[in-house]
Amino acid sequence: MKQIADGMWMGRGTDVNWMLVRDGSDLTLVDAGYPADIARLEADIRSIGHNLGDIGAVLVTHAHIDHIGGLQGLLSRHDVPVLMAAQELPLATGEQEKPGSRSELMRMAWRPNVAMWLGRVMRSGALHDEPLRGAQTWSDGGPLDLPGRPVPVASPGHTPGHTAYFFPEHGVLATGDALVTAHPLTAAHTPHLLPSVFNASDAGALGALDALATVDADVIVPGHGDVWRGPIARAVDLARSVPTSI
Ligand SMILES: [Zn+2]
Repeated sequence: MKQIADGMWMGRGTDVNWMLVRDGSDLTLVDAGYPADIARLEADIRSIGHNLGDIGAVLVTHAHIDHIGGLQGLLSRHDVPVLMAAQELPLATGEQEKPGSRSELMRMAWRPNVAMWLGRVMRSGALHDEPLRGAQTWSDGGPLDLPGRPVPVASPGHTPGHTAYFFPEHGVLATGDALVTAHPLTAAHTPHLLPSVFNASDAGALGALDALATVDADVIVPGHGDVWRGPIARAVDLARSVPTSI
């Protein structure tokens, strides 16, 4: 697990990141990996002297299986509030179908990089997308009364209720899949958007960059790829200019 700032870490599951923020004995978790990533998540938490029971709240950027799958294992052992945008809740609970074209992805499965990635994520439980019960939304716009005082930043496009989380004290922005720095299916290793096949709306995903650019952040913790340090405006400029086809 990589330390990002005082009391902040980024950990990695199967090609996907999560983030931990500590305040005293209390932890906030941002995203949770695939279902099978729970063991890695638990190991990360132990490596900083804590256990799963120290998680006081989970913030969800969006309801794709690689970001909420690990919650199945977490919630079976530790009852903890799971918070996300109201527009994202029906996707998490299964009331609404998740966007992103699975069939289009399957049509690309003949490509070696896609086939390898699909094999890897399926072994991590990508197809075990169970409805998430008991998730809720925050009662106000933030800063939320949680470690790091996070401010939700609405960034719909990748999914309808996608949310980034800004930690003003540290200048850190967890961008989820609204802005990534690497992905096994893209060639870019600078800030970029995910390819169309993963997005509910490409126009929305571009619009979300405008929302991210308004935040006074200089450290980006993406949903996929490494931490990126520099002004968010520069990251957004790069994301607008980098092509993102598979
Ligand atoms: Zn996603």
